[in-house]
Amino acid sequence: MAIVKAESIRFRYDGDWVLKNLSFETREGEFLGIIGPNGSGKTTLLKIIDGMSMPQRGFTSINGINIRKIKRYDIAKIIAVVPQDSPMIFSFTVQEVVLMGRAPHLGRLRFEGKTDFEIVHKAMEMTDILPFAARSINELSGGERQRVLIARALAQQPQIILLDESTAFLDIKHQIAFFDLIKNLNKEKELTVIAVTHDINLASLFCDRVMLLNEGIIHCIGTPGEVITKTNIKEVYETDVLVDENPVTGQPRVTLLSSTSTKGNK
Ligand code: ADP
Repeated sequence: MAIVKAESIRFRYDGDWVLKNLSFETREGEFLGIIGPNGSGKTTLLKIIDGMSMPQRGFTSINGINIRKIKRYDIAKIIAVVPQDSPMIFSFTVQEVVLMGRAPHLGRLRFEGKTDFEIVHKAMEMTDILPFAARSINELSGGERQRVLIARALAQQPQIILLDESTAFLDIKHQIAFFDLIKNLNKEKELTVIAVTHDINLASLFCDRVMLLNEGIIHCIGTPGEVITKTNIKEVYETDVLVDENPVTGQPRVTLLSSTSTKGNK
C-alpha cells in the first residue's frame, strides 16, 4: 500500500494555482527526491503532504487514511519535517530542542521518561552534536543548528521524514554523513524519505525515484536514470548541462556548463 498518496491536488495561496492537478504515490520505505526550479512548488508540496496546508481540490492520504481525518498530534507521530534553517526565537539548549521531537509520543502528563532521554541521546550521537548538547541553539552556526533540527526529527521516530533543503548549509562531510545516515535508516528501518533538494547529483546518488516539478506540475517522475537527463533538465531549468554516468555508482551525473566552459579553461 502507498504510505503517502496525493490525488489530483490543486493548491493556491491567494493568486494563481501553485500546484496544478498533481497526483503521485510513495511506497513504504521509498526514498523519493523532489527537484525543480525555484518557485516550482516543492516546499508547498511538502506542506501539503504534512497536512500543514490543505489543498483546495483533491486530497492526500497517509497509510490509506485521508489526512483531514488524522489529528495533528497523530500526524506528528508518523511524519517528521526537517525544515530549511530557521533561527529560533527562544534560547533553548540543543538537548531541549531535540527533546521537542518526543512531544507527540509523551503520555497525558507530558513528562519525558528514561526511554525518551535515551532516544534523544542516540539522535544527538547519530548527528554528531553531543558535544554541543548543553549549548544554546542560538550560539551555533547555521550548519550545526541544521544538525540539531535533523536530530529533533530523528528523535520523533517517524515513519516518514520530509527534508526541505535540509543539507543546503552543511559542508560536504556533514552533507554526505547526513544522507548516508538517512539512507541507512531508510534501508534498515524502512523509513520513508521525501527530500526536496537543489542538488541533482545528491538526488541521483541517494533516491530510488525522483520527481521533477515545474510550475506546479510533475514534469516527470521515475528512477534517477529516467528523470535526470539532458533533455528534461533543459526543458525545465532552461540550462544546458552535461549528463554522463557516475563512474563509481553508474547513476546519472550532472556537470554544469557555462558559456565559457572549455577544456583547460580556468
Ligand atoms: P519552491 O519550494 O519550489 O521554491 P514554493 O513552494 O516555495 O516553491 O513556492 C511556489 C510558489 O508559491 C511561488 O510562486 C511562491 O512565491 C508562492 N508562495 C510560497 N509561499 C507562499 C505564501 N506563504 N504566500 C503566498 N505565496 C507563496
